[in-house]
Amino acid sequence: MKKIHRDEVDSNFKVWCEYCSIRIAPNEGRIASDGKIYHQNCYERYSAADLKMRVASNRSGTALGGKR
Ligand SMILES: [Zn+2]
Repeated sequence: MKKIHRDEVDSNFKVWCEYCSIRIAPNEGRIASDGKIYHQNCYERYSAADLKMRVASNRSGTALGGKR
C-alpha cells in the first residue's frame, strides 16, 4: 500500500460497484477485476454467481444491474 495524493483520492471517491451500483466509500474494501470495481463483499458474491452463470449458460461479461 502506498499513499496517494489528493487528486487521486478525489477521483477514487467516484467509484461505483459494478455489482450493486452503490458507490464504494473510500474506507470500504474494494476489488478491481477486468477494469471494473466491486465491493469486497460483492466481488465475492459476483465471482460465485459468475461462476454459476458461466457453467449454466456459458455467457461472459453479463452485468447484474439493480440487484441488491
Ligand atoms: Zn457492491
